[in-house]
Amino acid sequence: MSYLSNANIQHHFHDVLIIGAGGAGLRCAQELADAKTRVAIISKVLPTRSHTVAAQGGINAALGNIKSDHWHWHMYDTVKGSDYLGDQDAIEYLCRAAPRAVYDLEHAGVPFSRLDDGSIYQRAFGGQSREFGEGGQALRTCAAADRTGHAILHAMYQQNLRTGTQFFDEFFALDLIQVDDRCHGVLAWDIANGTYHMFRAKSVILATGGAGRIFKTSTNAHICTGDGGALVLQAGLDIQDMEFFQFHPTGIADVGPLISEAVRGEGGYLINSEGERFMERYAPTAKDLASRDVVSRAIAREIMAGRGCGPKKDHALLKIDHLGKEAIMERLPNIHALALRFSGIDCTKEAMPVQPTAHYTMGGIPTNRFTEVIHQDKDLKEQVIHGLYAIGEAACSSVHGANRLGGNSLLEIIVFGRTCAKRILEQLQEESHHTDIDPDCWKTGVQRVERWFEKKDQQGLSIAACREQMQHIMQTYFSVYRDHAHMQEGIDQLEALASEMDQLSIQDTNRLFNTELIEALELENLMKLARTAAASALKRTESRGAHAREDFPDRDDEHWLQHSMASLIDEKVQLRYKPVRLQPISVESFPPKPRVY
Ligand SMILES: Cc1cc2nc3c(=O)[nH]c(=O)nc-3n(C[C@H](O)[C@H](O)[C@H](O)COP(=O)(O)OP(=O)(O)OC[C@H]3O[C@@H](n4cnc5c(N)ncnc54)[C@H](O)[C@@H]3O)c2cc1C
Repeated sequence: MSYLSNANIQHHFHDVLIIGAGGAGLRCAQELADAKTRVAIISKVLPTRSHTVAAQGGINAALGNIKSDHWHWHMYDTVKGSDYLGDQDAIEYLCRAAPRAVYDLEHAGVPFSRLDDGSIYQRAFGGQSREFGEGGQALRTCAAADRTGHAILHAMYQQNLRTGTQFFDEFFALDLIQVDDRCHGVLAWDIANGTYHMFRAKSVILATGGAGRIFKTSTNAHICTGDGGALVLQAGLDIQDMEFFQFHPTGIADVGPLISEAVRGEGGYLINSEGERFMERYAPTAKDLASRDVVSRAIAREIMAGRGCGPKKDHALLKIDHLGKEAIMERLPNIHALALRFSGIDCTKEAMPVQPTAHYTMGGIPTNRFTEVIHQDKDLKEQVIHGLYAIGEAACSSVHGANRLGGNSLLEIIVFGRTCAKRILEQLQEESHHTDIDPDCWKTGVQRVERWFEKKDQQGLSIAACREQMQHIMQTYFSVYRDHAHMQEGIDQLEALASEMDQLSIQDTNRLFNTELIEALELENLMKLARTAAASALKRTESRGAHAREDFPDRDDEHWLQHSMASLIDEKVQLRYKPVRLQPISVESFPPKPRVY
């Protein structure tokens, strides 16, 4: 039976369709549904399995509950943390909005840990200062023990059950219905039933999370495959700053699960094989609480100098046993459980083996600070794609620039989730009906799936083997330290592998809950993002934030205060650039200066 027929498509009409039920998608939906908008969310997993659930340490806001604090210091830290690649208007907006965002969460039912006076508990995190870089460590990260993301995601989900948001769980987005500079909806695959669904909407929001699975060792859930970014590339639009991938300094060695920065915030510290607190050499003031790029580079340097721990000398040790069992079990119970499960270490007694691990996608779908997706036309002029928005880790607004500060991502998903809803509510007033679209616009999306069913007998690599090779290439050639020769080798291997994708086939051709098909679609997405990340990294001849090059060790503000904009034209990566927005909204700019912690 041919599936290339309109009769096989089920049609749905909504005001707003959100792809993704993580913290960003749910926060946005709640605001829209409260305003009586017809809003639906599609999610490839049950909402509460979204990666937000894994967030541990907390969410930043200058509440000043323990020590005095101010949003302007938060802004300064974020600009400095971004290694001056962040857009300062978006950063000002984020930091100013933070306290309200956290109080909104509190009122929505997030069970934050408390101080004795009943106010929200706040802990130290990396790269946070009081006053502009000189006034010591701030206490800015609001926490629900070490399960902050879990608390937020569940509260947001419950709010959406209250508001009556319509959920389409286990639906996989295949293609944006895009005509010129306007998005009209999304074609999706119902994973359980193997059926096609056309979602028409006046506004479509991409809230699909990060792409951490382009790397072999990652703190990210297996579902973090950057699908939103790939949808945008497939529609001929840009993706921004993909060379900036955060390696978290403390993933559990060899396996990857995250040991939160909260461990160092609560007083934990790193040591090398000689028992030395080596961060004192790399960041004399902030030490273990320097920004993540700085700490990851330091661990990598120690390992390269032969001072790594363990039989393979390939990791550092993170100590917290000196805090005492009671404090650990009260503030870091999840860390205790993770370390025990994944490395067999009881952290109340011994140090934990850790190494830098792929963690966060700083790049993503380019947006302005109102969350509207933007694209550069052929004259390099920015244009808004009407009806298309991106929020959360999938987006690049760009508040994190070249390096994200811990605690700023949960903040971003909540602040921009709400902002996006507000922006859409303004615009919906002008749009009373769905516009007509090409009746064949579903074909690209349907073909994306059908060709896997058609080519079942080919003899190429398996999906799993191809994905593993891609992840291995990215891990080997695009890790914490990079240089031209290695990256070129990596790109050659990656492009050769990408050209073999046509030969891949799936073994399982059942249409019902076909997980191999989903893995194949995710692999197509991952490959697109890996290729743009690799090409953007090779071209940037400087070191900035998470992009550290042995052959260009210095930051080069003269040439590289620019965002990379990658697109796929005729299946080839094309790169263009646009300047960083150094001008904030209402305060003075923080001009680039050397970054010392
Ligand atoms: C282990 C870990 C710990 C972290 N700890 C912190 C922390 O303490 N503080 C902090 O600020 N940040 C932290 N982060 C980062 C932060 O949690 C994430 O950046 C953030 O939660 C992302 O939220 P999101 O809503 O953008 O995406 P996600 O929560 O990843 O949700 C993505 C959603 O998109 C859906 N989706 C994706 N593709 C498709 C598709 N093709 N079709 C349909 N649906 C799709 C998924 O089903 C899912 O619902 C942590 C991250 C990790 C991995």
